[in-house]
Amino acid sequence: MTITTEYISINMKLGDLMKNLLNYTKAELTDLLVQNDFKAFSAKQIFQWIYQKNVTDFSQMTNLSKKLRGYLQDNFVISKPTISSRQISADGTEKYLLKLADGNIIETVLMRHNYGRSVCVTTQLGCNMACSFCASGLQKKQRDLNAGEIVSQVLTIQQTINERVSHVVVMGIGEPFDNYEETIRFIDIINDPFGLEIGARHITVSTSGIIPRIYDFARETKQVNLAISLHAPSNTLRSSLMPINKKYPIEKLIKALKHYIKMTNRRVTFEYILLDGVNDSLDDAQELVKLISGMNVYVNLIRYNPVSEFSYKGTSEKKAKAFHHYLMSNGITATLRREKGGDIDAACGQLRAKKLFKLK
Ligand code: SAH
Repeated sequence: MTITTEYISINMKLGDLMKNLLNYTKAELTDLLVQNDFKAFSAKQIFQWIYQKNVTDFSQMTNLSKKLRGYLQDNFVISKPTISSRQISADGTEKYLLKLADGNIIETVLMRHNYGRSVCVTTQLGCNMACSFCASGLQKKQRDLNAGEIVSQVLTIQQTINERVSHVVVMGIGEPFDNYEETIRFIDIINDPFGLEIGARHITVSTSGIIPRIYDFARETKQVNLAISLHAPSNTLRSSLMPINKKYPIEKLIKALKHYIKMTNRRVTFEYILLDGVNDSLDDAQELVKLISGMNVYVNLIRYNPVSEFSYKGTSEKKAKAFHHYLMSNGITATLRREKGGDIDAACGQLRAKKLFKLK
């Protein structure tokens, strides 16, 4: 018995030392190969095997030298999560519970749109933003996911449905700008022409408004979409819904976004969830118009999906339409979005990995 246990633990330690190839950008992999006296272009070949030919067995990567295959075999793994559960909604939305190598469970959602297949990825185990209406914040952050763990969500779903994933939204559990480096490396990997080849314009990152990272993001060269969870037009109201607003208040957020728009020439999306009797009056709409008029922005109105732990209710359709109409007739481009996947708790903001946070 003792011998078996020791054997397993030694093997697990060896396993921990093995690096996950999904965690490498092509540039990082190229550097690594060159440092180890392999050809730089093999990084492209390895990317193609993994992301375009779905091959995870190094011995099948036949255009690589025998020596390189051996090196990869000895030092790397291609670690993908296992599917703990897959729920399919009436509208084709799918919610996955994925089990990571360390036993933690994360949620990933697939949405079927007429323009393609979109995956909503999780970036952290839990979330520290503590927004008063959001189920994700019910569990504090346990750790950040690394880029490979975020990449593997897209890869696993694409392989499971056997259809190409064309869009990615970074809107699952977690605050991507509280895990900035890994989020950027994730984008680099899925955008790579030798990787999943997801166009930058088809990738959207949503943040609660971590201002220093908005300035950083303005310096990134990729044409990725930025969405901001605004949800209120004034500091008093926003701070009561989103504690992050006390640290990064609205006027500084708007200043940062104006800088971002100037630097990138890209339109920013504001997400605004409509909470019954909280932020959905025409006075709120008027204040919102004042705040964002003249900016190159677009407002995405979302009727709140009730969460059983909180007492907030979603705005009625009639009131939501009136709010939408007010914005539109005052020169603000806005959409009132219909939710997908509500019947399987896969709708926006409903992810929480219920009691399955850590399945052993
Ligand atoms: N932390 C990031 C990304 C994850 S949340 C952010 O804050 O933007 C994705 C979006 O879902 C956010 O706009 C969030 O405010 C919203 N959301 C959270 N709970 C919701 C709910 N119950 N109904 C509708 N949207 C919700």
